[in-house]
Amino acid sequence: WNENMEGKVVIVTGASSGIGEQLSYEYAKKGARLVIVARREERLQQVAETARGLGSPDVVPICADVSNVNDCKRFVDETINHFGRLDHLVNNAGINSICSVEDADDIKKFVPVMDVNFWGCVYPTYYAIPYLKKTRGKIIVNSSVTAILHPPTLAIYSASKAALLSFYEALRVELAPAITITIATPGLIETEITQGKHLSKEGVIQVDGQLADEIVKLPVMSSQACAKAVLDAVGRGERNVTEPKWYKAFVLL
Ligand code: NDP
Repeated sequence: WNENMEGKVVIVTGASSGIGEQLSYEYAKKGARLVIVARREERLQQVAETARGLGSPDVVPICADVSNVNDCKRFVDETINHFGRLDHLVNNAGINSICSVEDADDIKKFVPVMDVNFWGCVYPTYYAIPYLKKTRGKIIVNSSVTAILHPPTLAIYSASKAALLSFYEALRVELAPAITITIATPGLIETEITQGKHLSKEGVIQVDGQLADEIVKLPVMSSQACAKAVLDAVGRGERNVTEPKWYKAFVLL
């Protein structure tokens, strides 16, 4: 990853754990100045401390809910007030809900998935565009391979991630050549989303025993390896990042 990040300013959403935490550390090692966003304050403070230790000269943790449009305006405004510029916006925050549609006790339970995963990327992007144009900056989006392979029990999650593909492909054309956009579509990454809470073997078994057997066979990547792969692709100016082995694994399902 060869981009010189010294003096540059990066916002990472969903930075309190998993891939977003590791993306923050990779930026910190490059000397970038950071605004890290999530809801859990204590976790954000810990990530900020580690990022400073890794080489970031200035890290500002901001508690915000990306599904709230006012929160998104606030953290973009605070970034500009504090640093005076913005170079990369990393839209990474996301949640999951693993359940077949007919088994949902209330169809509205899926609404937050779309609110966080889709609108939680669109809102910060909207407010960041004028500042990213000034620096000829970059937008990085964490979609998912489920956007393309749509496995069962992840219908709404996959739809939210597919919506990101359409949105950012159109935006890429609207904003070229001033702003570059890279869309990541990772496979199975070892994070809080996959550990116990969402794609655990037990959780999936409740929905579909056969699927569970297949899911535990998928190759799992660490969140650090994923962060590095994403930023390597950003450095190369790639439009899209997907590991071929993830495709293969999900096609097996
Ligand atoms: P984690 O659960 O570890 O990270 C999710 C992050 O998003 C946390 O920092 C969480 O922080 C934050 N977040 C969730 N909801 C909100 C909200 N409303 N407002 C602000 N921040 C929020 O999981 P991952 O690291 O795996 O997930 C990161 C992204 O990667 C997600 O978009 C996910 O869909 C995507 N992805 C993950 C894959 C995997 O296999 N793990 C595969 C493909 C894509 P907090 O709770 O403190 O707000």
